[in-house]
Amino acid sequence: MVASRSARERKAAAEAGPLAQVRIDLGDDDQFVYKIRCTRCTVRDGVSWSAWRRGEDNGYMAAMDRWTFHLVEKHPGADAPCLTYVDAAQQRLEERRSR
Ligand SMILES: [Zn+2]
Repeated sequence: MVASRSARERKAAAEAGPLAQVRIDLGDDDQFVYKIRCTRCTVRDGVSWSAWRRGEDNGYMAAMDRWTFHLVEKHPGADAPCLTYVDAAQQRLEERRSR
């Protein structure tokens, strides 16, 4: 469990690119909690912008999608592997909304 968590953390960090700081915690219900923090943006009082979602692969996807949109919106010049999937992320967002 622990090994798979750090492996996931490394994978997520690689996908999210250099602007992100990724952490995966274990929630009280033993679910993963994915946190992707922006190292550049603060929302208020020095608190970093971050996306966090709970769950296994769906949590990972949701957090990464949210991060991808943040990059597109706030850091247009940034380069990150997750940007490759921005179209897929957009599609998932629309699916979630239409549900
Ligand atoms: Zn940012």
